[in-house]
Amino acid sequence: MLEINNLCSGYRGVQVLNEVSLNVPKGEIITLIGANGAGKTTMMRTLSGTVETMSGTILFQGKPIEFRPTHYRVEKGLIHCPEGRELFPNMTVEENLLLGAYTIKTKDKIRENFEKVYNVFPRLYERKSQRAGTLSGGEQQMCAIGRGVMADPKLLILDEPSLGLSPKLTEEMFVLIMQINQTLKTTILLVEQKVADTLEIATYGYVLQTGRIVAEGPAAELKNNSIIHKAYLGI
Ligand code: ATP
Repeated sequence: MLEINNLCSGYRGVQVLNEVSLNVPKGEIITLIGANGAGKTTMMRTLSGTVETMSGTILFQGKPIEFRPTHYRVEKGLIHCPEGRELFPNMTVEENLLLGAYTIKTKDKIRENFEKVYNVFPRLYERKSQRAGTLSGGEQQMCAIGRGVMADPKLLILDEPSLGLSPKLTEEMFVLIMQINQTLKTTILLVEQKVADTLEIATYGYVLQTGRIVAEGPAAELKNNSIIHKAYLGI
């Protein structure tokens, strides 16, 4: 679905990502783990096209997209869900969700996508007329992910969906992410710092440190990786 080869990118002469290679096969949940400042946000921005690729390639469904504009990538189904705080706080849940469907042409399809979102997140249905700014932290994250689902993603890139959530809500959020993957058949790139939970639902993971991939492997094996133990699990 997504194949990244030797990707370098950054800001005005400051290179952040250094020869990053990563593969997201269709139907899977792949995780990119990294501490603060590792380059996760830069990676997501480079994938969605708001940060320029300096060198390397990004293949999406077999086609190079590294020099394509953001709207092209969205139309092709590469959808980046920023964290929940980037909702429009004075608009209702339903209005925020609808914004995610701006590339969808027919009303029937939009209705169908609302159903998909409300099936996975019944809480959003209960609160569809509530202003997004008054939702709890967890509900805001659900709304941000729901907005991404409204766009009919082929690949959903989730930006720290557990940020600011309690351990219990984090667990619930991860179950919902698994549901999106399994019931809607959406491929997911999950960018996270909560490593233990993330490795429970992902099939394969990559560890980013100062812009480079320093470890990778099947999730079950990464749990035993010494870099993961030292840096993330405090073992
Ligand atoms: P966090 O989890 O804290 O959000 P991150 O892994 O997402 O961290 P990035 O935000 O990608 O990391 O930052 C990686 C590096 O790029 C940092 O050293 C940061 O200072 C730098 N950086 C980020 N944005 C810019 C920018 N607009 N201009 C210059 N440097 C930037």
